[in-house]
Amino acid sequence: MLDLLKLRLRHGYQAIPDIRKAKLIPTFRGFPVIKENKCEDDCTKCKEICPANAIGLNPLSIDLGKCTFCGECEKACSGGAIKFTAQYRLGSTKRETLVIKSGKVFEDYDREAIEAKKEIYKIFGRSLKFRQVSAGGCNGCEMELAATTNVNFDMGRFGIDFVASPRHADGIVITGPITNNMAPALKDAYESISDPRIIIAVGSCAISGGLFQESNKTNRNFLNEVPIDLYIPGCAPHPLTFIHAVLDLLGKK
Ligand code: SF4
Ligand code: SF4
Repeated sequence: MLDLLKLRLRHGYQAIPDIRKAKLIPTFRGFPVIKENKCEDDCTKCKEICPANAIGLNPLSIDLGKCTFCGECEKACSGGAIKFTAQYRLGSTKRETLVIKSGKVFEDYDREAIEAKKEIYKIFGRSLKFRQVSAGGCNGCEMELAATTNVNFDMGRFGIDFVASPRHADGIVITGPITNNMAPALKDAYESISDPRIIIAVGSCAISGGLFQESNKTNRNFLNEVPIDLYIPGCAPHPLTFIHAVLDLLGKK
């Protein structure tokens, strides 16, 4: 017992103390800053190299719902029109907000992207349990979601957690492009949760189909039938991106 206590003392407090102030290393690819005035005439190199069809031209834009944050567009752009920053707060309650146009600054995006809902806080503010459904994901998003509950990020301290059964859940977290095989299972899981329920799409695959947008092995009809409460971009999203977005949705400071 004494040894256990000594070990506990030696470990100290391992969770990030103030998660709202956490910073990532500068090389992390998060919010992109786009400056179209730096584009060379008639250049389309970024669009051509993008594997996710995330880049729009005239005006130059990046759809964070499709982007895999591979950084190839930044490397291809000799004029420096696209620069990824380490800002990881990328969640949004509106799909259209995820399209970042030239001139958009992070502070504006951060202010506008997530609309906190009082009724959600009233019901789920103290306890919010999710069932995670991997609908054909590669396990990248799933691993990062699992990390949200580890000793470092400790999402459980906010009353937010994952549970094993949709019957015990208040919402569903979807990862993966929704393959044909997983489409019925996803619908079953959703229908097993009683109203009101929250739906979160995590990762470029779940939000847009990601790299599998053109695949005939996916069935994304479910997303047209239900309202998505929160989109969390990334491939895979950082645990802090997920935790901040859910806290913002709840309106928790
Ligand atoms: S970082 Fe995003 S927008 Fe740029 S090439 Fe990769 S997927 Fe496309
Ligand atoms: S978004 Fe990226 S990490 Fe997540 S399931 Fe798709 S390919 Fe994997």
